[in-house]
Amino acid sequence: MSYIKNCKICGQRISLREMSHGQWVAFDVNTDKPHKHGKSSRKKAGPKIQSNQIDRESPTNNDGFPTGQTVVIAVVVIGLLFFFFS
Ligand SMILES: [Zn+2]
Repeated sequence: MSYIKNCKICGQRISLREMSHGQWVAFDVNTDKPHKHGKSSRKKAGPKIQSNQIDRESPTNNDGFPTGQTVVIAVVVIGLLFFFFS
């Protein structure tokens, strides 16, 4: 019996296989090599974290959003002025 999961220590995908003694051993996926922590996952994890930070920053740095709010408020105020003075 075996199943694939992400390593809790390095996050890499590993294939857990049950040995004849009931002991679970971690292998690299699609290989017969025993898993060793941190081969390439740290390099992959770094750019992902950086890209997430960029994605999070871009909405807050969006200059169009406050302008859009101002336009909506102006339209509402003008509409109320017409409503009260007509
Ligand atoms: Zn690992």
